[in-house]
Amino acid sequence: MSDIIRLLPDSVANQIAAGEVIQRPASAVKELLENAIDAGADSITLIIKDAGRTLVQVIDNGSGMSVTDARLCWERHATSKIKSSDDLFAIKTMGFRGEALASIAAVSQVEMKTRRPQDDIGVSIQIEASQVIKQEFVHCNVGTSISMKNLFFNVPVRRNFLKSNPVEYTHILEEFYRVALANPAITFSLINNNAEVIKVKSGNLRQRVVGLFGMDYNERLIPIEEQTSIVHISGFVCKPEFARKKRGEQYFFVNGRFIKSSFLNHAIVSAYKDLLPDQLHPGYFVFLEMDPKQVDINIHPTKTEIKFEDEKSIYAILRSATQRSIGRFNVSPTIDFDQEAVLSFLPTSKMEGPLTAPAITVNPDFNPFHTQTSRTRQMEMPLIERNSAKNWESLYQGFENRNSKLDELPIQTESVNLNSGVFFQVNDTYIISRVKSGLIIIDQHLAHQRILVERLETMLNNHSGVSQKLMFPVLINLAAADAVLVSEMIPALNALGIELHTVDNLNFQITAVAPYMQESDLEELMDVLLEEYKASSTLESKQRALISKIAVRTAIKRGQTLQLSEMEALVNDLFACSQPQISANGKPTYIRLETAEISKRFE
Ligand code: ADP
Ligand code: MG
Repeated sequence: MSDIIRLLPDSVANQIAAGEVIQRPASAVKELLENAIDAGADSITLIIKDAGRTLVQVIDNGSGMSVTDARLCWERHATSKIKSSDDLFAIKTMGFRGEALASIAAVSQVEMKTRRPQDDIGVSIQIEASQVIKQEFVHCNVGTSISMKNLFFNVPVRRNFLKSNPVEYTHILEEFYRVALANPAITFSLINNNAEVIKVKSGNLRQRVVGLFGMDYNERLIPIEEQTSIVHISGFVCKPEFARKKRGEQYFFVNGRFIKSSFLNHAIVSAYKDLLPDQLHPGYFVFLEMDPKQVDINIHPTKTEIKFEDEKSIYAILRSATQRSIGRFNVSPTIDFDQEAVLSFLPTSKMEGPLTAPAITVNPDFNPFHTQTSRTRQMEMPLIERNSAKNWESLYQGFENRNSKLDELPIQTESVNLNSGVFFQVNDTYIISRVKSGLIIIDQHLAHQRILVERLETMLNNHSGVSQKLMFPVLINLAAADAVLVSEMIPALNALGIELHTVDNLNFQITAVAPYMQESDLEELMDVLLEEYKASSTLESKQRALISKIAVRTAIKRGQTLQLSEMEALVNDLFACSQPQISANGKPTYIRLETAEISKRFE
């Protein structure tokens, strides 16, 4: 029998190895940014097109490379960062496996320009699927620019595995945030589809957090600081009242490297134990510095997980440091912060004109765990516009004239024998009424959702959303990533009656909303809308997502007592819908209980 083992051709071996390192555009972003930092750059620009599918480019002003290095760096296991296996245990730099560039070159079309300060002329190299196709001398700035174009152009299967642009872009931003947070002394900018979306100048950590996540963060941060023989802890934790329902900004860095650790997270969260209900998550930006020999960052191929030699002590130290920070803040709410330093950093437009001292308003009754009972107020307003109020007779006539899509509607074919005004509310949730052949039981929440969805659809199509000015405009402060998405959402929101205006690149103002949303928690609603918006890909699905989320959030809740007239209006409006039988998320809005079925129960 002949031998069957063959060595894979290099190109295939490279592609396979690349799969581990470069899974999506964001993986290349991480590797290229880390290389730029290792090269000693103090200014780094990331350029993205089409969520990184067509272009990921990183430009740095670091050390640059010699002609030989510029060629060698694309080989597998080419690294200037480790010389022996001993070095593996004392890594100070970011990369160390010498795999990133080789992997990128295996699955894309690459262009690099690089020049060292001591050289008069730089070198440019082009590579496609691991093959060097061009190399020449060029005039270029000191430092390195690497462009990764058309990722997975030669591996269509992997290309098809990429998610929608918003999802891939969110991954890229996450990598960008991590690197930018870990290196506040370095100036970073991010250019997405030709627009500069983030620019954070060299500064301190507080300025960096504020620059990335918005001015709001300035008042949220409490410093954390602890020096022990095994670890130095620094950074910020967020005040308990700013904890969020969705896991927000939670960052750990160990020796300058972002890591995920449910174990460290637990240490911090447990320090908030009595201050936060379970479902709220505190934000934090915490840096641990320790002897590299005491940590193993190599246990995971993408190097975001970690193992500590002395886990128990680290846990205890981090937890008590967090407790102390929160405690200190409770005693003296003023925090060490250099206001000028942050102001110097605002968009220049804001710096013009006289500066006024920031006003501080304190609400002594503020209770972070108190949720607004907005519904009670809302119900004082007419539940549903009355101009469309119909009586049951005309309602049913309408149905009789309608076409087949309503055929399965149980009551449409019945002659009217339902008196308006004969409604009962059960459990403050279900509205029961009599029809000729039995009873219908309507879920008030799902029914109202359906009504709102159809109204919102009409508003969006006709740009007919009516809005009422808010007495106090609501300021929405966002992370840069979200701000980009919100700008995209503005036309749709305006059409729906939510007037949202850009204040600057991280701040928006809601000045008016549709009447039925007057009392909603608008900040939370925006959070939910953003999440939903991110998750859908086409414009149409995004708009549908917005509408159904707004409807779900603002519909009458279960458990709310309704007046007779409100029940009547709700039922009228439900059956005036084009699809009264299903809710926004596909559940039945009502069920019918036939007299025959009722009788059967008595047999
Ligand atoms: P690693 O970072 O693990 O060493 P990479 O494949 O990421 O492996 O990079 C290979 C080598 O190329 C690095 O060790 C470094 O010497 C060089 N290099 C990569 N990017 C840059 C850059 N932006 N500036 C200067 N040198 C770089
Ligand atoms: Mg590297």
